[in-house]
Amino acid sequence: MTASDWNKIMKQLTKKPAKQQKFLKHNKPNDRKFGVAARKCERCGRFGAHIRSYGLNLCRHCFREIAVELGFNKYS
Ligand SMILES: [Zn+2]
Repeated sequence: MTASDWNKIMKQLTKKPAKQQKFLKHNKPNDRKFGVAARKCERCGRFGAHIRSYGLNLCRHCFREIAVELGFNKYS
C-alpha cells in the first residue's frame, strides 16, 4: 500500500470512528526510517525524485515550478 492510498483511507474513515480505530490497530503502515517512503515532497506529497539539498525537501516537479521564486537561476 502506498502512502497516498493510506491518506485516502484515513479521509474516508473520519466519519466511521469505530472502523478507523480498528484500521489503525491492524493495518497502519510503519513509520519508515529509510527508503523511498521515508521522504516525501513537502508541497505535493510525491515520493520519487526528492531534492534534499539546502533543506528544500521538494520533488523535482515542485522544484521546477518554484525554483525562480526561491532564487535559483538557470545558467544554461
Ligand atoms: Zn512536489
